[in-house]
Amino acid sequence: MNSNFNINNLLRDNIKSIKPYSSARDEYKDTTDGMIFLDANENPFSTDVNRYPDPQQTALKQRLSELKGVSTQQILLGNGSDEVLDLIFRAFCEPNRENIITLPPTYGMYNVLANINAINTIEIPLTSDFQPDVDEILSAAHSHTKVLFLCSPNNPTANSFKADAIAYLIEEFQGIVVIDEAYIDFSKKESWLSRLNDFPNIIITQTLSKAYGLAGIRLGICYASVEIISVLNTIKPPYNINQLTQERALERLNAEDTVAKEIRKIVKQRKTLRKALKSIDYIEKVYASDANFILAKVDDANKRYQQLVEKGIVVRNRTKQPLCENCLRFSVGTKAENEKLIQTLMQLS
Ligand SMILES: *Cc1c(COP(=O)(O)O)cnc(C)c1O
Repeated sequence: MNSNFNINNLLRDNIKSIKPYSSARDEYKDTTDGMIFLDANENPFSTDVNRYPDPQQTALKQRLSELKGVSTQQILLGNGSDEVLDLIFRAFCEPNRENIITLPPTYGMYNVLANINAINTIEIPLTSDFQPDVDEILSAAHSHTKVLFLCSPNNPTANSFKADAIAYLIEEFQGIVVIDEAYIDFSKKESWLSRLNDFPNIIITQTLSKAYGLAGIRLGICYASVEIISVLNTIKPPYNINQLTQERALERLNAEDTVAKEIRKIVKQRKTLRKALKSIDYIEKVYASDANFILAKVDDANKRYQQLVEKGIVVRNRTKQPLCENCLRFSVGTKAENEKLIQTLMQLS
């Protein structure tokens, strides 16, 4: 794919010729000194948010660019990763005609978004050790297969995919490879961001919802080539990231030390929690984790889930997912929350 990559062979026809909506704030920013802004029909009385937000999120992208070592032109922000993923469908997948590949068990939104966009999903289950089945994936892909979704570390299995398998898929798959790194900050494995410029067909998604503790502000991030980002930029809603979100995100990105400290605490708790889960007799298997959650196989997931709810603890029952029979997914909480969980699990009969 790398040598003969041509974005025009992958974009939907209607997207190739689309012109972006030019918003008032695209022409002049309200931070420009001494200007009087009578161009956007805003209320002139200040509420601190009476002006439209920066449609290009310049300050926020600048900060991300410094932190991640990626050019601002290789960054697109979305109202959560969900919006970013939806934009990818809208840019590359022709409704009622084309398809994507997902590797279940995995994040459910890929399939939901595929359905909303009238795109078929080809599901190639992970192998029994939760790795991509590379040969099956490549033989299932055909000329109408536009996007391959790789979630690493994967939700709900919590493991990372082997780097050589990912690299091989990027090289061989004749479409866009999305690497969803929502949990990368909890992992020791290197982000694929460092390889962004080696592969013209990859899109890396990250989020402030997990390690950065900002699920409530909805900020998803995607990194790709300048070419791909400029297309996604053209089709995004002009003011998709609101002013309050831009401010809170920037504040948090400037508090790197605090974030790093929290991540260290969560990773430490993950280790403690795994060990404790292993000691419980009806827990048959506790899977390794590169994320802020742990997947564990119990004797009867429906029963244990219900018992926990009755004790006031909500976990995620994944028993209906392929390869996850009788599995529960435990998010790593605070030390006190995890201790309460373990204490409660131990008392169940
Ligand atoms: C939680 C999660 C996300 C984040 O979604 P947001 O819309 O950014 O909150 C993305 N991908 C995976 C696999 C997730 O588990």
